Amino acid sequence: MSDAKIPYKIYLTEEEMPKAWYNLRADMKNKPAPLLNPGTGKPLAAEELTPIFCEELVKQELDNDTKFFDIPDEILSFYKMFRPSPLVRAYCLEEKLGTPAKIYYKFEGNNTSGSHKLNSAIAQAYYAKKQGLKGVTTETGAGQWGTALSMACAYLGLDCKVYMVKVSYEQKPFRREVMRTYGASVVPSPSDTTEVGRKILAEFPGTTGSLGCAISEAVEVATKNPGYRYVLGSVLNQVLLHQSVIGLETKAALDKYGIKPDTIIGCAGGGSNLGGLIAPFMGEKLRGEADYQIIAVEPASCPSFTRGTYAYDFCDTGMICPLAKMYTLGSSFIPSANHAGGLRFHGMSSTLSQLYHDGYMEARAVEQTSVFEAAEMFARTEGILPAPESSHAIRVAIDEALKCKETGEEKTIVFGLTGTGYFDLVAYQKYNDGEMSDYIPTDEDIAASIAKLPKVGE
Ligand SMILES: *Cc1c(COP(=O)(O)O)cnc(C)c1O
Repeated sequence: MSDAKIPYKIYLTEEEMPKAWYNLRADMKNKPAPLLNPGTGKPLAAEELTPIFCEELVKQELDNDTKFFDIPDEILSFYKMFRPSPLVRAYCLEEKLGTPAKIYYKFEGNNTSGSHKLNSAIAQAYYAKKQGLKGVTTETGAGQWGTALSMACAYLGLDCKVYMVKVSYEQKPFRREVMRTYGASVVPSPSDTTEVGRKILAEFPGTTGSLGCAISEAVEVATKNPGYRYVLGSVLNQVLLHQSVIGLETKAALDKYGIKPDTIIGCAGGGSNLGGLIAPFMGEKLRGEADYQIIAVEPASCPSFTRGTYAYDFCDTGMICPLAKMYTLGSSFIPSANHAGGLRFHGMSSTLSQLYHDGYMEARAVEQTSVFEAAEMFARTEGILPAPESSHAIRVAIDEALKCKETGEEKTIVFGLTGTGYFDLVAYQKYNDGEMSDYIPTDEDIAASIAKLPKVGE
C-alpha cells in the first residue's frame, strides 16, 4: 500500500478496541522466574501474596498459562474515556530527518495522568474495589503513576495514599496538587511516617529518595492498615498484562493498513509500557510466526539491562518485598537525580528480563542530554511536548531512522510515546539553560550495590 493512503493518525473504532488483555507469558517457553519469599527462598504461594496485593491481581500475577484475560466491562467503559489512543505516522519528523524510514508512534499521553499508567491503574483499582477494600497505597516516582491511580480511585470511590520520591515531590509541586485534587494523600519519601522510612533516613541522611524506598514505605502502610492493599505501577507481570492493551491496539491499527513493523522501540523503567507495546509482536516472535527487532531504551544513569546482573533481588530498598529474578543494579543502588523519574528503578520486569536473557530483545542506554536533544526535535516537528521518559524511545527511534538515511533502508519503526512532559519543565529549563549533566555510574558504584544482592536462588 502506498504511503499516501496512510493517514497521519490511525484510530480504531470502539468496536475494534481489544476486549481482552494478552498474557505474553503463556507463549514463553522459558517462563519468567517466580517471585520468592525472602525468608525461605521458596516460590511465593498465592496466600503469601494476598496480604499485600488484591486477590484477583495475585491470580493474574501467578498465571503463566492463560493467554487472554477478558477486560471487565467497567474497565472497558473507563478505557473509552481516553482510548483508543492514536497511532501516529511521524511524517513531519521523517521529513526533518530526511530519512527513508517510516516512523510511527503510539501516543499514550492523552489523559490527565499524562502517561500510559492509567491503563493499569484503573484495572488495579477496580479489583481492589471488587474485593471490598477501603483503599490502596502506592509509590510514585515522577508522579504519573500516583496521578493515574488517584484518578482511578476517585472514579471508583477508593482511598489512595501515595508515597512520592522526595526529589519529584520537591521538583513537581504541581503534580502533587493534581493528585490531591483527585483526593489522594501524598507523602514525600523517605518519610518519618513509616519504620522503613525512618531507617532509610538514618542510613542515608539527605537522600532524595528512590522508587525502591517509596515502595517499601507504601507496602508497610498497606500491610499495617486493615482494608488496604498495595498496588504497583510497573515491573509486575499483572501490570504488563494490563498494558498489553497498548500493543494490541497498535497491532490492530497497523494490521488495518497492512503495515508490518521492522523495529519496535520503547523506554524501559520497570518495563510495563515496553512489555505492553511489544506483547502481541513478541508473541508472534515466540511462536515463530514473525520476526521483529525489539529495543529497550534505558537511561545511562540507571542502566539495569545494559550493565545490571541477572539475579534474584529485592524490588525495594527496604528489602521487605518479595524477591524477583531480574536484571538489576542492586536494590541499594540509588540512581543520580536523572530527570526521567519514571526510569529511575534499579530492576526490570522479570518477564522482560527473561526475554532479554534469551536473546529476544536488545537494550541501549542513552545519556540525558542526547535524550533532551531528541525531545526538542520531536516537540518542534511533531508538536507534542514529550515526557523525558518517552524521549528515551524517541532518541533511539531517531538514531535508527538516521541509520536508514545512510543505508537507504525503508524500515518501518514503531515506538511508544508514553506520555507528555508538562510537569517536567524544570528538566526542560535545565536543558534550555545548558545546565544539564550526564551522570553515569562507575563500575565501582554498580559493583558495590551488586555485592549486596541477596544470596538466594543461585
Ligand atoms: C512510568 C513511566 C515510564 C516508565 O515505566 P515503565 O513501567 O517502564 O513503562 C515511561 N514513560 C512514562 C511517561 C512514565 O510515566
